[in-house]
Amino acid sequence: MHIASVGVSKVGFLFSLVLCGLLLLLIPAFQPTARQVDLPQPRPQVKYSAFTLQNNTGLPTLSDSAGDRERTTGLNISSEEINGTIDTELFGNDDYKETYSEKNSEALSIPEGQGRPGPGSRDLLELKDIFIAVKTTRKYHKSRLELLIQTWISQAKEQTYLFSDGEDKELQTRTGANIINTNCSAAHTRQALCCKMSVEYDKFIESQKKWFCHVDDDNYVILPSLLQLLSSYHHSQDVYLGRPSLDHPIEAAERVKSNGLVSVKFWFATGGAGFCISRGLALKMSPWASLGNFISTAEKIRLPDDCTIGYIIEALLEVMLIHTHLFHSHLENLQKLPTNSVLEQVTLSYGGYENRRNVVKIVGGFSLVEDPTRFKTVHCLLYPDTDWCPKPKSHNGK
Ligand code: UDP
Ligand code: MN
Repeated sequence: MHIASVGVSKVGFLFSLVLCGLLLLLIPAFQPTARQVDLPQPRPQVKYSAFTLQNNTGLPTLSDSAGDRERTTGLNISSEEINGTIDTELFGNDDYKETYSEKNSEALSIPEGQGRPGPGSRDLLELKDIFIAVKTTRKYHKSRLELLIQTWISQAKEQTYLFSDGEDKELQTRTGANIINTNCSAAHTRQALCCKMSVEYDKFIESQKKWFCHVDDDNYVILPSLLQLLSSYHHSQDVYLGRPSLDHPIEAAERVKSNGLVSVKFWFATGGAGFCISRGLALKMSPWASLGNFISTAEKIRLPDDCTIGYIIEALLEVMLIHTHLFHSHLENLQKLPTNSVLEQVTLSYGGYENRRNVVKIVGGFSLVEDPTRFKTVHCLLYPDTDWCPKPKSHNGK
């Protein structure tokens, strides 16, 4: 009797063990897959204008007197594109060159407003919440930086940092710009550029700001549009926004521990058009990006700084780039941007020595000779009260 009851409880014990084991095995089946395919959805829009920013209330208004332009976010991606056909050609990493593809302009669209959550999740984003890093080099302080400091940087002085490779106390004291000497090499090499990006990342983390945006020193940042775009998301979401320069993911050879190479494919936002990363996502990048780790990560794939950002976010963290057409580099034909949409873009650029005519088509206070990059003209349309902007002639000639 006694022996029999021991036997029954033993059987019961073994049965519950097997049941627990089975339940444990089933748990992963109920969980979502690790790959993030759900892109952060834009939130309801608040309108920002240069008027609002210049009047420095810090608070955006729902309608404004400087122009009641309706803006779309330009957020564009579809799941077909993510899973879509990709070029399997292998890039010799060191020979990699960016090529702009017009196909990008048509690809990747979701109908506007799709997937937007209802009202209630908005908290107002202010310019002071954004950290803007401008990559530059000593030789461009005069020819490129001065123009930026005179134009858009003057409207975002506190949060814009210029990452250079040399001191310029004169420019710093004369303009009050935040110039950071990264002590990185002034050469245009992968290592030197990654060195600058590494310092940009660390400074952003230190800043406690909500968004990190990177641009080159030949970009104009249209601040009201930037604020508008970023305010559609929350900085605690995983957000990586920018424009790819290729119409397919890049394929790189990743060095692995066993001294071998494995192929890895990912999208990246071209640095020459600028890109933005939310703080939530930037913090997750830390093991591969902070305190010099960015340089060793870039060495693993032997690709430039902007590709390395894409590699960390898409390949390592499995967060997708949100493709947007609102960012522009001089790899594209800037003349093709419709004139009436220029002020709605987030970044602009201009062609270098090789293509001086590649500028946005915009008419305003300055001729092409006076303003070959068109940045002054754009600036005066956005901020007509600026003291150096031509004043519109009044009708009675006064
Ligand atoms: N740059 C740099 N070091 C250099 C040359 C360029 O940091 O030796 C920066 C430059 O200031 C700019 C970016 O790299 O922000 C891209 O340079 P550029 O516009 O001359 O070249 P491209 O756009 O054709 O790549
Ligand atoms: Mn450039």
